[in-house]
Amino acid sequence: MGRAPSHREQVEFLLQIQRLLEEALFVASYKPALLIALADVAVELGTDGEPLTVDTSQLAERFVRLYWRQAAPYAAGPGRRSKVLLQNAGKQAAIVNAVEEARALHDGRFSTVKRDPKAWNRLIRSVARTIQTMPLWKLQTVGKERLSFLYENLDKGTTVTLNATAVYCLRRFHTLVVDLAQSAWMRFLRGLKPNRRVLGDVQDLRTFLFGSDRASLLTYRHLLLKAQDGRCFYCDGALRARDAAVDHFIPWTRYPVDLGHGFVVADARCNTQKSDRLAGLRHLNRWIDRNERHGDDLAADFDHADVVHDLGASWQVTRWAYSQGVAAGAQAWIKGSRNDGVMEPIEPDWLGLLPGAT
Ligand SMILES: [Zn+2]
Repeated sequence: MGRAPSHREQVEFLLQIQRLLEEALFVASYKPALLIALADVAVELGTDGEPLTVDTSQLAERFVRLYWRQAAPYAAGPGRRSKVLLQNAGKQAAIVNAVEEARALHDGRFSTVKRDPKAWNRLIRSVARTIQTMPLWKLQTVGKERLSFLYENLDKGTTVTLNATAVYCLRRFHTLVVDLAQSAWMRFLRGLKPNRRVLGDVQDLRTFLFGSDRASLLTYRHLLLKAQDGRCFYCDGALRARDAAVDHFIPWTRYPVDLGHGFVVADARCNTQKSDRLAGLRHLNRWIDRNERHGDDLAADFDHADVVHDLGASWQVTRWAYSQGVAAGAQAWIKGSRNDGVMEPIEPDWLGLLPGAT
């Protein structure tokens, strides 16, 4: 593991992210999308303090994940016409067209297109090409200035190498970077005239665009319940399907990407008490055990229910979240409420329990 950037370097990094999102000219939503994709690969594929080389296909996969939801028609409320939001000044963004076409051919189901290698590869190739010609070498241009704080601007090729400081900071400040990028993305969409007629003054634009941890998760809680033998993940109490709450093992507020293996079911009490905290060692062990034993079965069920999943990425996200907890000296939740709950410090050796640890 390389050296951690100094505090000064970390602040400098965040200031550059802010400049990039506030001062740079957007002609499409590709720049914030690329920034979110880079932050996600840093968590899912990166290691603290080491540079990370990624290619446009890897980024394209994250783009498809991001735009999949957004390429569905948006309806602001009863009586308003629903329409796919414009993501480009001028005609619709090429990536939205490609994703919309894939949605239409596969009944809107992400897992169906992903399981069709021909359709999936065609989609990824098309999106990867657009990433290469559009945002990849323009992302760091702010006015007349060209920044290179994320990666070197080679202006050609299909790979970029995030430098060690960028990888460290994207992992450290993932929530913040994604939040800033989502806000910039929404500002851009609201600013496009044709969208204003569709949007009205809606409150739930962020939920539509970027997803949420709410109702839709309930549709597949029975899959998780089966893998947990009908018991609450945290307290092992018997759990009826209608009382089961779907819980993000790594809290949504820490990593707002839904990946199937990252979910557990719990009773309402445990779900509420855990809240946005990381779970303690016995829970972590149980989560690892469940996914090692039932991971493949769950993957098949997730495909069937059209839930995005990637067990390798889920291991990485969990390792990342706990390493952040170690760095912050955070306490993990074992049981009980916020005020009189039982907590324990997160220990560095927990990270070694996760498969693929080096
Ligand atoms: Zn419980």
